[in-house]
Amino acid sequence: MTLTFTVEDPATLEAIAEVPDQGADDARGAVDRAASAYAAWSRTSPRHRSDVLRRAFDLMHRDKDELAVLVSRENGKSLTDAHAEIGYAAEFFRWFSEEAVRPGGEYGESPAGGTRTIVRHRPVGVAALVTPWNFPAAMVTRKIAPALAAGCTVVLKPARETPLTALAIARLLTEAGVPEGVVEIATTTRAGEVVGTWLEDARVRKISFTGSTGVGRHLLRQAADRVLNSSMELGGNAPLVVTEDADLDAAVAGAMVAKFRNGGQACTAANRIYVHADIAFDFVARFGAEVEKLTVGRAVDGAAIGPLISATALRDVTAAVDLAVEEGARISHRATTPDAPGHFYPPTVLANVQEGDTILREEIFGPVAAIVTWHDDDDLIRQVNDTEYGLAAYVFAGDLGRALRLGERIDAGMVGINRGVVSDPSAPFGGVKQSGLGREGAREGLREFQETQYLSVDWPE
Ligand code: NAP
Ligand code: MG
Repeated sequence: MTLTFTVEDPATLEAIAEVPDQGADDARGAVDRAASAYAAWSRTSPRHRSDVLRRAFDLMHRDKDELAVLVSRENGKSLTDAHAEIGYAAEFFRWFSEEAVRPGGEYGESPAGGTRTIVRHRPVGVAALVTPWNFPAAMVTRKIAPALAAGCTVVLKPARETPLTALAIARLLTEAGVPEGVVEIATTTRAGEVVGTWLEDARVRKISFTGSTGVGRHLLRQAADRVLNSSMELGGNAPLVVTEDADLDAAVAGAMVAKFRNGGQACTAANRIYVHADIAFDFVARFGAEVEKLTVGRAVDGAAIGPLISATALRDVTAAVDLAVEEGARISHRATTPDAPGHFYPPTVLANVQEGDTILREEIFGPVAAIVTWHDDDDLIRQVNDTEYGLAAYVFAGDLGRALRLGERIDAGMVGINRGVVSDPSAPFGGVKQSGLGREGAREGLREFQETQYLSVDWPE
């Protein structure tokens, strides 16, 4: 008898589905299939792989409404956020269908003469992919699309909270013409056992992980045993800076998106909002008024903000806010939550947060905006960079030159200038410091699934 586990709707706590609870033997079986499919898939033409990925893009659009409902049901996010995610997720199939036919390469002459060098990029091999629950579709396509474009086959473990979207995407890929064994999905409650089995298997040549910095560190340690090619998209602690000359309407709108998209459960979420002291009063009043208008509840009822993913997440966010208040912050504005069983937390604005407060050091991962005031550019940059993370940052300023100067001084892989979103399939997504290694999307995203080889050719004069 196969073991199974239950997938729950975090807005109602109702069971949605039962999926297989796989273990080490199943994990090895998935690698068996991915390894035997590799020989043929890695030798298909770039154009063939491009056509398959382009069909996957079309099929995601054909099924976008059903997929958005599925994302909302297992993750809890609003239908607006779910539709946006499906559109974004599908774009990775389109972008990498375009990149698949541009594998690149170089031809060079050696300085001493007598030799020519041909540089090529070949697929790294079978890749293990591990994804989080907060973007159940986009984190899956952002890895599968470049891997398949490069000619890799993959084994993927979705988060236990949200395996259904990954399974639905795998079915679409089969319909698009992906052969058996090229994409293997392993659903499990035993992440360590399944992923550990993959990392020990000599046939697996790559680990690409998106999730928390803690689990990323653990996987890097395991990957060290076989010197495994590793890409890590980890946690963030994004600052959002508002200068005294910023367009306040744009800054408030941008902060609403940067903070509350996905209910604050995003690695790029604005965790720390730094507002210049001259405009802090106005900003907090306007931003707070918007926050109080946010509706919280089930996606099907049209709510703007859904539940947190789990009881643990609700406990953690509650504790983070309680501690912030103990440390001197003040709850200036708050929305209301429905009287329902889901893991709902009210969107909250914390004013008077001070340098050194715990809430500025850790990822909040919920609908809570912590506001700090500042006076001086140099001191601002020092505070903003005082974190082990470096994923996203945002700057709102009236003078574009100043915005760019501040943006360049922030230690982050991505900086939104006068906008609250940075994600774009054509741009290299990723972090510095403990927010990760490598990039996803853009040309760089393809390179993560390739290895450089050169042929040194004797070329007598
Ligand atoms: P997580 O707890 O690190 O889990 C991520 C994935 O790793 C899940 O599939 C999880 O499986 C798996 N996992 C957990 N423990 C494992 C272990 N010992 N060995 C192997 N795999 C293991 O992160 P999360 O809570 O799902 O997601 C939130 C985090 O992801 C945040 O820190 C956020 O910033 C980060 N994130 C980063 C990006 C980025 O691009 N940089 C994007 C989105 C999210 P289970 O579900 O079974 O635990
Ligand atoms: Mg987890």
